[in-house]
Parts: sequence; C-alpha cells; structure tokens
Amino acid sequence: MFSQELISKFENTPTPFYYYDTELLNKTLQTLKKAVDKYGYFVHYAVKANANPEILKIISSYGFGADCVSGNEVSMAIKCGFPASKVVFAGVGKSDAEIITALKNEIFCFNCESIQEIEVINQLASNMGKTANIALRLNPGIDAHTNKCINTGLEDSKFGINFNLMEDVVKQVVKMSNIKLIGLHFHIGSQILDPEPYRLLCIRSNEMQQKLESMGLSLPEINLGGGLGVDYYNPDQNPIPDFESLIDLINKNLIQKSEQRVHFEFGRAVVAQCGTMIARVLYTKKASKTTFAIVDAGFNDLVRPALYGSYHKIENLSTKSQDVENYDIVGPICESTDVFAQGYQLPQTKRGDLIAFRSAGAYGEIMASRYNLRDFAKSYFFNQEK
Ligand SMILES: *Cc1c(COP(=O)(O)O)cnc(C)c1O
Repeated sequence: MFSQELISKFENTPTPFYYYDTELLNKTLQTLKKAVDKYGYFVHYAVKANANPEILKIISSYGFGADCVSGNEVSMAIKCGFPASKVVFAGVGKSDAEIITALKNEIFCFNCESIQEIEVINQLASNMGKTANIALRLNPGIDAHTNKCINTGLEDSKFGINFNLMEDVVKQVVKMSNIKLIGLHFHIGSQILDPEPYRLLCIRSNEMQQKLESMGLSLPEINLGGGLGVDYYNPDQNPIPDFESLIDLINKNLIQKSEQRVHFEFGRAVVAQCGTMIARVLYTKKASKTTFAIVDAGFNDLVRPALYGSYHKIENLSTKSQDVENYDIVGPICESTDVFAQGYQLPQTKRGDLIAFRSAGAYGEIMASRYNLRDFAKSYFFNQEK
C-alpha cells in the first residue's frame, strides 16, 4: 500500500526504478534480531539477494554478518560495514583470485563445496602464511519442495559435498596444515514456506554431528543456511516473514552442545518485501484473445518471472477505476519471454499509468543486466535522509 504522497513522488521520478521502504526493512531486521537473540544464534545476511550499498549499510548496522558467494561480494560487504570476522564465503566455483581476496581480508569462514577446493585453499593459504577457517558445505539430500530452479539440497544438485562422503573428506582435511575445520554448513534452497524440510535438515545435521563425534571431533559452528520464503501473493498482509516460528522449530529439533554456535544466512526473507519496481505503461494493444499492457521495464530490470516463472503482485497506482480487464503485462525487450504476467486482472489501464511490481527487493535489482543496451534502473529510498 502506497500513500498518495509517495505516489506523487513516484510520478516525478523517471521510470523504471526500484523503490525501497527502509522503514519496513528496519522492522524486518528488528523482528529477525529478536527471533535469533532469544537463543543467541547468528545471522549472516546473504548479500546476493540485494547488494545495494544503502541496503547493506542498514543491515550491517544491526550487527549481522554477511554470507558472500563471490570475491566482489566479500569486498563489498566489508566496505558497507560488515566486519570481516563475520563474513562467510560459499560457492561451488571459487576462483583462486577470489580465495586470495578472502584470505587477505581474513574472513570468518570458507564454506567449502569440494575436496579439490579445500586443497586449493590450503595451498593458497600456505603461500600467504595464513590458516583458513573452513566449514564443509554438506548436501543433505533433502527436497525443499520449492521451485526446481532454486532447490539446492537434492542429492544430485551441484551444491555441497554429498553427506555420505563426509567422513572421507574430514579424514583428508584434518591433515592439511593451513586449514582449520570449524564447522558444518547446509543450505537447502530458497522460497521455502513449509517447515518440514527444516525439521529434516535438523535431523540430518544431528546425524552428521554424531558421526563426527564417533571420529573424536566436535565442531563449534553449525550453519543452517537461508531459504525462508515470503508471501508474494499478500505483501500487505504479510510484510514480515515468520522468522520466530522457524527459529523456534530449529531450536526444538537441533541438538546443540553448549560450546556450539548456530548460524543462519537469510537473504530473500530480509529484503524481498521492502522493494518495489515501479514502471510506466507505454502502450496498450489488443490481439485476438489478449490485451497487452506494455511497460517500460523489461526482464533486464526484473528477471524472476522470465527466469523462474515467478509471481509478483502487480498494481496500477494511477487509477481508481472499478472496471477491470485481463492483461498480459510485458516488457519492451525483443524476446518472447519478456513477460511479467499473463491474463492478470488490473483496473482499466492506459498509457502513462504507474505500475508497481511488489516484493521485488530480493533477486531484483541485483540480477539486472544491460541487455538490449538498456540503462540500469536506479534505486530510490525517499523516506530516508541521505
Ligand atoms: C542464496 C544463498 C542463501 C540465501 O538464500 P535465501 O533463499 O535468499 O534466504 C544462503 N546461503 C547460501 C549458501 C546461498 O547460496
């Protein structure tokens, strides 16, 4: 829901653009902090969901850490106020240069996804006279029952080390002189709204801890990753995800020794609802069965519908008309997949109307490209002194 005052600010801003509601972001962060502080758990915000510097500065001000998946994310996170001592670095394909960046910055932990990667980190750390903290990212073999494009914990997904291979890998890792194994890491997927996969994850994590114990090892860090989903259909009714229920469920099901620390890496759940992409209708036209509303944003600005078939709630902010019509809402890009929604009911829509694509704060602006040589959409905060 946008106030008339805000809509008139939108009217005076060149479209398309991203608008971020920092008040909602702050409320979301307060809710998350309260949920994890209850048990002394740690959060590393997943930078890949949204790396807008203003957003990163707000999130780092809460004392959270950062979860990075590239060397540039590591550098950006540190630049925006996340202490290196709270930065974790995951990714199946870390390059030598990225590993060196992370080693130079003395980050908290590498979440490692293969034995070869760990050998390379060991070698590079040795060259630099450093020791790298690592956690093993285990693939727990759990179906998160989410969109197949963002399901990461299935046994044959490219992510992580197969949990059946853990003992083998551990035996090799403990012999490496410049590696310190400090924990286990998991991340089972994204946009997860069903608690069951998280319960299964706790069971798997407990099993793995027990195996380690039988090898005489007890690792201080358990990182359960991110993945909590948001309500894309009702952003006004459910602006803040239910962190508390998930954290309580973890606390109930995870066996945690007193010296162990539990970590999370939420991305989407932190930033999705505070962001909106605002576009303008360029043209409307009729085909044989369809009416098109052609907007001035394309999949280069917001790719989720084209990439994953994702739903965003779409609103016409310029009319109060009671007459509705079904529209195919499409962008200007010369690709048939440049479609935001098909048969979407909006009030009678005309050239010049402002269109809001809601819940676009996560995997929106950050996934933008310059395809068709289009300019990057800018971002605005309006309610924030800059
Ligand atoms: C993407 C990612 C996350 C964040 O996922 P969300 O669904 O946005 O919470 C966390 N950890 C890792 C390793 C990731 O790749």
